[in-house]
Amino acid sequence: MDHDHDHEHDHEPVAETDEDLQAEAEREARRRFALAQIRQYGDPALRLTAYEVSDFDDDLKRLVDRMTDLMHDAQGVGLAATQVGVLRRLFVFEPDENGPRTVVNPSILEIGDELETDGEGCLSLQGVRVPVERATTVTIAGKDQNGADVSYELSGYEARIAQHELDHLDGVLIIDRTDDEHRKEALATLRPRVTLR
Ligand SMILES: [Zn+2]
Repeated sequence: MDHDHDHEHDHEPVAETDEDLQAEAEREARRRFALAQIRQYGDPALRLTAYEVSDFDDDLKRLVDRMTDLMHDAQGVGLAATQVGVLRRLFVFEPDENGPRTVVNPSILEIGDELETDGEGCLSLQGVRVPVERATTVTIAGKDQNGADVSYELSGYEARIAQHELDHLDGVLIIDRTDDEHRKEALATLRPRVTLR
């Protein structure tokens, strides 16, 4: 899932020293390079169901490291394995400054009744932001990259991110969860890109 770009471009204008401009240009270059390695809408991998992970080996750890780096460079807050073309049930997410978390073979233990609609973007659907209804609380359980049990009681923004990433593991995208009008608008944004691929 991506950051709220409206918010991102809203902050105070930075002092435009040469160092600032260069740092900004480097961040933008890293973001574009990361996005180029993340599967984009139209890629069949985004529509497939991922398989349970059975081996907690070095390959898995390398995959988690790579996904975490890509999430950071792309300035996102969550990334699922299907978004890098790997059909394994895991995702990384980082809703706050407490560092990235990994959930392998995630399952929903509990999901709240209260629903809330808010705008969502996705690193695989660039330029798209659509309203999506999600439960405001969710408890997920799974394993970390070493095979240790983890569970997270999530609410608000972090609950939204986890539900978004869980969807990715079943080939579900935000355009499937929004209303007809926003879906049409989103597809119009995505279509030119698909033809160019
Ligand atoms: Zn996404």
